[in-house]
Amino acid sequence: MDKYTVAAIFRGIADVLEIKGENPFRIRAYQRAAQNIESLTEDLSDLMARGELERVPGIGKDLARKIAEILTTGRLRYYEELKKEVPPGLVELLAVPGVGPRTARLLYDQMNVTSIDELERLAREGRLRGLPGIKAKTEENILRGIALVRQGTARRPLGLVLPLVEYVVAYLQERAPVERISPAGSVRRRCETVGDVDILVVSSAPERVMEIFTTMPLVREVMARGGTRASVRTTDGLQVDVRVVERESFGAALCYFTGSKAHNIRIRELAVRKGLKINEYGVFRSDERLAGREEEEVYAAVGLPWIPPELREDRGEIEAAQAGRLPRLVERSDLKGDLHVHSRYSDGSGTLEDIAARARQLGLEWVAVCDHSRSLKVAGGLEVEELLVKLRAVREFNERSPDVKLLCGAEVDIDGRGGLDYSDEILAQLDLVVASIHSGFKQGEAALTARTIAAMENPYVDLIGHPTGRLFGEREAYPLDLTAVLDAAARTGTALEINAYPKRLDLNDVYSRAAAQKGVLLGIGSDAHLVDQMDYLALGLDVARRGWLTARDLLNTMTYAELRSWLSARRARAAR
Ligand SMILES: [Zn+2]
Ligand SMILES: [Zn+2]
Repeated sequence: MDKYTVAAIFRGIADVLEIKGENPFRIRAYQRAAQNIESLTEDLSDLMARGELERVPGIGKDLARKIAEILTTGRLRYYEELKKEVPPGLVELLAVPGVGPRTARLLYDQMNVTSIDELERLAREGRLRGLPGIKAKTEENILRGIALVRQGTARRPLGLVLPLVEYVVAYLQERAPVERISPAGSVRRRCETVGDVDILVVSSAPERVMEIFTTMPLVREVMARGGTRASVRTTDGLQVDVRVVERESFGAALCYFTGSKAHNIRIRELAVRKGLKINEYGVFRSDERLAGREEEEVYAAVGLPWIPPELREDRGEIEAAQAGRLPRLVERSDLKGDLHVHSRYSDGSGTLEDIAARARQLGLEWVAVCDHSRSLKVAGGLEVEELLVKLRAVREFNERSPDVKLLCGAEVDIDGRGGLDYSDEILAQLDLVVASIHSGFKQGEAALTARTIAAMENPYVDLIGHPTGRLFGEREAYPLDLTAVLDAAARTGTALEINAYPKRLDLNDVYSRAAAQKGVLLGIGSDAHLVDQMDYLALGLDVARRGWLTARDLLNTMTYAELRSWLSARRARAAR
């Protein structure tokens, strides 16, 4: 868990530099380093021991030295000194979306605000308005920002929780006498945010499981411990519960603890109508146990086929199951490509070879390499000449690559009026064009909707990137007339992205489903900036499954040849 400490310190440095108004590229370098370190699959101390820290993208000599200092001493002198240059408490304010370094400074200088609680109180009482640049509306934004911060710490994005869940499950499987084990709850349903984690276990030695679970190295606090159930808080503050259940009850317990509550209520109603009782121990007719060992038996007892956990939200899955019309949800093995990966040409870290190698490991056939366009300077957006160099490099790569093929794409900025960052003449040369909004989020619903639709009307745009712009804990989805956007997507044949980056998951499950119902195609993009992050594709798959999508609803399930012909049909139409 060292990597989280290092990342936290680097983020802290970026914050202080921001308050001091330092060079944005330097700030960005620390933020990127933090992000890259967090998504490492290898242990930082191992890398250090082998002298290979500098192999981590974005880590040069200077940062490698700083990491080494943190790993050996637990702190960083540079950071301690830097923090003294700004008033304490100011950094905390920066965590609130809508409070930039200038506002933070102002709040401190004029009102002596040094904590989020204080900021909240003053905003509630309307005492901030009147400060230069702060109106009633700004106060509202600050309060909404504070709510986001609080929500971000109460419920975490699925993508940040899953690695930890997998770690705990593997840890118990390896060391404890575990016969069966499964996560339940919102993690198993793959909800986009997770409050706490429930894990169910079957074991002939529950005491031993409790012992091993509560003494894991990442446990900070044991909150409760009984003979078959324990609850801990991990070093980064997540609550994890493990419960040992009887072999005969595992399926029933899994149903019960997976939920959702709304789904379970419907299942229990069906049971009552058949004169049965369903609870976490099994399915009973008076005192006789009829089922419980497997989930399938529980569903069968109420006359239903097994329902995938991602659908268990009482959003029509019971009716679909009764009618024999459950969707055949898209699966990992259906995915053949990734639509949105950044390379070293912009702010990504992988070369074309690195990206293809990772794709091969993940069993993918193609990857669209989409780098930022020229306006996005902080992210190394490509000028036209650079784009043309990249285009040639991708062509050459494909000639020597027998299996994995790359598409030369771009993530093109949609400007404030719906225009694009490259001319049509340039866009026409690219294999695939993702268009995204990266600025002007405060324009309001009408303008943002119009920009999005204008981009879709450009015949060279194939996919709209992260269509609602939300970032967990940082930014709400911007207001969009989703119906108008989905109608325009259907009319123009433009696909919409399910951006799988852990903080985004955008489109979300509900909108993805609405899109597919209108016949709009969706495309999962990992938005990887490091090749390891291409694994995020799995999170996009979770969203797709929660959105009831089948293989036919996604561009990612096309073979390279199929995708090329879909794209060239669009190009042909554009040329007409
Ligand atoms: Zn983007
Ligand atoms: Zn991107």
